[in-house]
Amino acid sequence: MQDVFIQFYGVRGSYPVSSPKVARYGGNTSSILISGENLRLIFDAGTGIINIGEEIEKNEIERKKVDIFLTHLHLDHIQGLPFFKPIFDPDFRINIFCPDYQNVSVEDFIYSLFNDPISPISDHGIKAKINIVKLPLTEVKTIAVDGNISVSCKKEDSHPLSGVLIYKLSVDDRHMVFATDVESPDGFNDEMVDFIKGSHILIHDSQYFDSHYHNRNDSRIGFGHSTCSMAVRNALVCEVEKLYLFHYHPDYSDKKLKKMLKKARGRFKQTYLARELMKFRLRS
Ligand SMILES: [Zn+2]
Ligand SMILES: [Zn+2]
Repeated sequence: MQDVFIQFYGVRGSYPVSSPKVARYGGNTSSILISGENLRLIFDAGTGIINIGEEIEKNEIERKKVDIFLTHLHLDHIQGLPFFKPIFDPDFRINIFCPDYQNVSVEDFIYSLFNDPISPISDHGIKAKINIVKLPLTEVKTIAVDGNISVSCKKEDSHPLSGVLIYKLSVDDRHMVFATDVESPDGFNDEMVDFIKGSHILIHDSQYFDSHYHNRNDSRIGFGHSTCSMAVRNALVCEVEKLYLFHYHPDYSDKKLKKMLKKARGRFKQTYLARELMKFRLRS
């Protein structure tokens, strides 16, 4: 049995930020690396994936295969893709798993990121073997990744218009759930609670403080994101062991995030702030 590690490379929501005020928790947008001996899975391809690419190329891995799971196609979850180094390495095989939206050609959309007028790379510049796999939005789907490791997905409707996929990584009987870009003022519905229940780790959207979300003059209701209180409530109802807050508002400084952590820990002790390069083990 192999050990599997989870490492954050991008934890910010909406757009990347850079300033000394965000240096501790980081300014790159959504991207998480799951690694093990010969295992490289990535959740989301925000700007954080650029550093994952550097890392993968630097530390030669025996099996040149990467699986990328996209939660949805908003820019902050895909904008690092044209700068992900393994894409320009002919030895790599890259599977890109993404929601099967009916109103758009997912393949055309992803390749457009590499082509004029968005980018000068063009299809010819892509050297890896890319395989795009569309995931259903109507049922739970489980993909066997490697031996005792699988990834399941389930659609969540609260993110505006097209919704988002919630992913569950399973290593034997240990589970990590990645639930970003969700808004659940009343908590997850029963089906989603069943999907998540008993997971070891829940990584959950925490874009706002409650006061920001409910601000009477500038409310964020309906924007498709959660407050830290919503994240805590879902962690409690789903009976997870640890909660990692994620997808922070771009204006939130390190100082503000520490306040957010304090607030959340008051109700759920095992709460942590996702931080760039933070790495931990999901034991098998
Ligand atoms: Zn987002
Ligand atoms: Zn989004």
